[in-house]
Amino acid sequence: PAQDNDSYYFDSYGHYGIHETMLKDAVRTGSYCDSIKKNRGYFEGKAWLDVGCGTGVLSFFASRYGGARVVYGVDDSNMINMARKIMDVNGVTKEEVVLMRGKMEDLELPEKVDVIVSEWMGYGLLYETMLPSVLSARDRFLAPGGTMWPNKCNMLIEGVEDKRLDFWDDVYGIDMSVMKAEALKSLCGDAKVEAVDPKTVVTDRVEMWKCDLNTVKDEELDYDSVVSLKFNHADSSTPIRLDAFTVSFDIDFDLTATAPDTVPVSFSTGCQAKTTHWYQTLLWLEPATVPTIAAGEGVDLKIRVEREKVNHRDISFTVEWRVTGRAGTAGKDVAESFKD
Ligand code: SAH
Repeated sequence: PAQDNDSYYFDSYGHYGIHETMLKDAVRTGSYCDSIKKNRGYFEGKAWLDVGCGTGVLSFFASRYGGARVVYGVDDSNMINMARKIMDVNGVTKEEVVLMRGKMEDLELPEKVDVIVSEWMGYGLLYETMLPSVLSARDRFLAPGGTMWPNKCNMLIEGVEDKRLDFWDDVYGIDMSVMKAEALKSLCGDAKVEAVDPKTVVTDRVEMWKCDLNTVKDEELDYDSVVSLKFNHADSSTPIRLDAFTVSFDIDFDLTATAPDTVPVSFSTGCQAKTTHWYQTLLWLEPATVPTIAAGEGVDLKIRVEREKVNHRDISFTVEWRVTGRAGTAGKDVAESFKD
């Protein structure tokens, strides 16, 4: 039988493999753990909500490392049954971590909470569109003065000169460049999730969006942004080819603005940092329009990021670019989205 998007989505979290991938991502899981352990003094005795608790790992952190009074853990996948077993094995009572099966949007809590923890981030940050569920939980259940955890995030973009297609120019002395068109078909069109080699990055890494999770509104998740990229030329005589853009995000657990005694923790999914299970998101330009950038030139970008109308869990990126300091070199050729 045909399944709606949600049952497909929650089924995908019912299998152990995806949780193994997330739990083994030490940058991800270790940052949540550290951010709670290092701020136990601040968190002691608070009530928490864990939106999308999965195996219950973050509920456990809050309870045992953060000294929570109570944690409500919510998930609509079968994994929540495993979460209960995991709590039992580790001596966490049903009063300390209250697990609730259901879609967050459909559930009620017996009280407001001081902290909402969630690991909602998808590829390119917003893919999967879980964040709106977390924001609606915030608007219903976060007590005044409470905080989201993490509480800040941003998205960054950088330019890439990717020489992998040059391989086809000389394969053991054979010119196979006619193969490039096929290879490009698999690269262009959809956003690609892959580990970008930092040596291919040829610009600075520029913030295209940032958000305060305690205040951001749902409608601000579809956005336009204008940024300029500066190129890092090795020398002034060698131009740089701009083949693709890389999008990545950074996450902050940082309350120092309002609670100076807390310890900030952050992590980055940029290719310069340790690789995470999110890798980076690569947006290839249409080959016919790929520009060559001389020393002293830059590129201005107009970026649109939005949820798709048909499947709202899908995100599309549109990037219009223009070479600065030169007439007539512009394009709007990246209109990409993630596809399952
Ligand atoms: N917190 C766990 C799992 C994170 S994966 C960890 O850090 O390892 C995200 C989880 O959120 C999945 O298990 C998914 O089923 C759940 N989820 C996503 N949207 C939800 C919603 N609207 N209501 C309930 N659970 C949700």
